[in-house]
Amino acid sequence: MSESIGFIGLGIMGRGMVDNLMRAGFDLTIWNRTAERMAPFGERGAKAASSPSEVAAQSDIIITCVSDTPDVEQVILGEDGVIHGASTGDLVIDMSTINPVNTVEIARQLNAQGVAMLDAPISGGSEGAANGTLSIMIGGSETDVTRAMPCFEAMGSTITHVGEQGAGQTVKLSNQILCVVNMLAASEALLFAKAGGVDLDKMLQAVTGGAAGSWMLANRGPQVIDDYWEPGFSIDLQQKDLRLVLGAADKMGIPVIATALCFNLYRTLQAQGHGDDGNHSIIRALEAMAGVKARQ
Ligand code: NAP
Repeated sequence: MSESIGFIGLGIMGRGMVDNLMRAGFDLTIWNRTAERMAPFGERGAKAASSPSEVAAQSDIIITCVSDTPDVEQVILGEDGVIHGASTGDLVIDMSTINPVNTVEIARQLNAQGVAMLDAPISGGSEGAANGTLSIMIGGSETDVTRAMPCFEAMGSTITHVGEQGAGQTVKLSNQILCVVNMLAASEALLFAKAGGVDLDKMLQAVTGGAAGSWMLANRGPQVIDDYWEPGFSIDLQQKDLRLVLGAADKMGIPVIATALCFNLYRTLQAQGHGDDGNHSIIRALEAMAGVKARQ
């Protein structure tokens, strides 16, 4: 019999991930801070718990996917947190993007109670969560990764064990550098083409499959042209990840010039009240400087 799964955090990502775990036939107990979000899953057979600790008490493997470092600390270590309901031998998998140093400390506290932990942050956007095609980057022991593999396979298609506890988060932050700098390049290119009088649909058609192609260009480029700013990943959450990159790079003593530029461009959009928009709207910060709009 497969292990019982608990899932905490039914946000943009968590909803798609739970959907795919249910389709794969896992027995699921769920919890979300805003309780209404649990209803559609309850109707399909998931058990709704009243707290993270109750999720842990009902589950062998407990997955968390919430916003930021303090939120993960709260749902795992806080009052009514997972740590208070978990039993020896349980496995916690945090799939949020958080500070790698805090991840190691959370793991230490769980391990001290005989509870294992993997950090397994994700990439692939809301589409990847919905389609079960996430990239999952995992830090922790080989034994725990093997144990969790059926869950990972239900949610993702590129599953990589990258190192010890905390390594998953470090790789995820590297991924975030690639995403934002990629979107900045895509934005600059779109604006340049528009200012040069080119049809942007044609421009995307011409370059997306070539050496300059990228996931951001292919998926978010058309949204820019359509003036569509709904978040697959919000500026506020993106900014949280860039803050983690800048902090970690400072500790490592390495420059992250392009990331710092993106951080500041996103800051201007936050100041204008666009924090809830998708991270592809970084182009609007460039448009404001250029006095040209890329959109059609
Ligand atoms: P989201 O839609 O904003 O959802 C956040 C979830 O966290 C909600 O379920 C929210 O509960 C819960 N939450 C936040 N603070 C909490 C707290 N203090 N206590 C309990 N629950 C709390 O975010 P998301 O896009 O799903 O992202 C979730 C994580 O995945 C983040 O770490 C993000 O960086 C990462 N991620 C996102 C994407 C993406 O494209 N969206 C891609 C890769 C990784 P409520 O419903 O009550 O607000």
